[in-house]
Amino acid sequence: MVDDFVLFPFLLWSQGCFDGGSCPPVLQDQLQASFPDHHRARRFYTPQGINMKRAIDHDDMLEQPSSQRPRPSNEERADHLLKPETINAALLGERRTMDGMHFVHKSCDNPLPSGAPCFSNMWTSKHGYEAHMKRFMGYTQEIRTSVVFNLLKEQFYCDEDKDGRAYGKPKWHYSVTTDQGVRTVCQHVFLLAYPISDTTLFRLQTRIKEGCTSAHAKVEEGGTMRYTGKATLRDDIIGWYIAYAALMGDYMPDEQQIVVPRRGRAEEFAELEYSFGADAPQYQYFCSVLKHTPELAHICRARKLLNFQHCTTCVDLNEEVKQAIQTKDPEKVKRAKARRRAHHTTTRAERLVYYSHRESGRASHDVLSLILDKWDSAKTTIPYFARSPGHWWTSLKHDVLEQHVLGVLVHDQPNRHYFFNVNSTISGSANLNIEGIRRVLVDMYSSATAPKLPRTMYVQGDNASDNKCWSLLLFFAMLVFHGYTNDVYFSFLIVGHTHEDIDQVFSILSRFLKGIGRVVDPGQFDADLKAAMGDRPARFEQILSVFDWINFLKPSLRTGTELPVGIQHAKVGDETLVPHTFWIHKRSRDGCVVLHYKERSADSVWLPPLAKDASGALVTDPEGIEFLNPDRPLLDPLVTTPHEMEFVV
Ligand SMILES: [Zn+2]
Ligand SMILES: [Zn+2]
Repeated sequence: MVDDFVLFPFLLWSQGCFDGGSCPPVLQDQLQASFPDHHRARRFYTPQGINMKRAIDHDDMLEQPSSQRPRPSNEERADHLLKPETINAALLGERRTMDGMHFVHKSCDNPLPSGAPCFSNMWTSKHGYEAHMKRFMGYTQEIRTSVVFNLLKEQFYCDEDKDGRAYGKPKWHYSVTTDQGVRTVCQHVFLLAYPISDTTLFRLQTRIKEGCTSAHAKVEEGGTMRYTGKATLRDDIIGWYIAYAALMGDYMPDEQQIVVPRRGRAEEFAELEYSFGADAPQYQYFCSVLKHTPELAHICRARKLLNFQHCTTCVDLNEEVKQAIQTKDPEKVKRAKARRRAHHTTTRAERLVYYSHRESGRASHDVLSLILDKWDSAKTTIPYFARSPGHWWTSLKHDVLEQHVLGVLVHDQPNRHYFFNVNSTISGSANLNIEGIRRVLVDMYSSATAPKLPRTMYVQGDNASDNKCWSLLLFFAMLVFHGYTNDVYFSFLIVGHTHEDIDQVFSILSRFLKGIGRVVDPGQFDADLKAAMGDRPARFEQILSVFDWINFLKPSLRTGTELPVGIQHAKVGDETLVPHTFWIHKRSRDGCVVLHYKERSADSVWLPPLAKDASGALVTDPEGIEFLNPDRPLLDPLVTTPHEMEFVV
């Protein structure tokens, strides 16, 4: 095997970096800047260092000439990196080498907002880091190198000011994708997540600066380019795609999968083609590698959802990248990609908050977490035919019984599923959503043996207007006002990034119906849905009528100028925010039910703000937003039953 590390000094020789064994001062400075934690690289560039060219490859061989110790195999390195003590040390930002040397993360250039160093709580658990390391070390060395090359290739660019203008020199932006989202880190911590030797790192960075399109050197032979060593074009494609998924994808903890945005393969290929330049593979080859490679089995494209809405930001940002690629200006491409990454970082942070709600719902009887969504599709009509049964159907197919299914998924062990089936006589308004939540609460908490309603409720919904409205907030306020619960957190996932658990349940149902081929009456529809759910805890109900919650609750909302604005948009200073999460609770001062909001669930400060503190950071106003009409307290539906809604005709 031709060793990357061994090749490296020769590369430099050929580029004139070595002159009689001494290193040019500029390069020495660069090296020192590249290796802030230790200066081993310098030794490499001294005349003695050349004799150590093999030994320098691995931390464990620093002090001994290569002749005395064989180079550790891939397995030995993986064993070392996966040892509990090496893992524990890495979680604390410490790099342990095979010969027992320890390198701590010294001054941190990318501290968290709390001031903690960049490696703090980077993974949700030791298991998360272990799983990542196992996967990464399971790749061949060629793929590992290629992954890091492609990650870094995207990360060498100039910073941008507020208006999107680049300033300063390009610099390395190290970031790591973990089960906690994306984190900007220092080089030392990047290497804990992607362990390659310093020498390889330097070699890759040099190749990127020189405009090389791949991690591995190539030679020309008989007019065609050939990789040196064991590397192949396939490794480069795999490495590129793993890096693409790390930067663009969403980590799904349940399946330990990475879901990349749903785009055409051709769109993905266009980005790879730009990145590979003249070395780009044929489109068909790219597709076949993606399809058949076990190393990519954990990466999948977002499902095409029944009620899928594109995230307009994603569409715009993808277009920006596409246009930047057309200009062939590498700086523009990198910055467009960096902006797109920033968006994915935000959406991932939101999902992680959702996951933590889900877990607290599963872990405690005193917390309830649920998500609700509607399933409207061509498959929920009666009759339904997967394939047209004949020409006569073309003229009749609009004359069907339309049904809608409101799904509520309660995060429990195992999850509980509720499906409320309605036809068009019931409008899909806030009344239906509230009715769904009410029926779930009744089912879970009203029997004599049932536990009391939990003190904390997390409710997740989509961003539709029948969810994000005062009626829902008033219903939750009613629960808090009458002491059914203490705190309700009502959140909205970002449109287009909701390939969530509830969507997956709907797609189980949808696939089942498609497999059956046809549904001829409502009875069969119910029976088929039950069959589709199999052993999963699920309850199916036909909702024949709903209460008129909207009019029951509305009088308790402040009116006129007293009505707070801002569930769709809120103004803080000059900024217009789009709140995505609401907290309904009794304020401690007087027990008045109030509302706080945040633009993103992952934001640290609840708004509205009181004022900025000395450092300019926002501080939560404990008064919150009063939105209840003091003259008309919320009625308790257990005492005063709401009216039933009229049918829609
Ligand atoms: Zn750091
Ligand atoms: Zn998006």
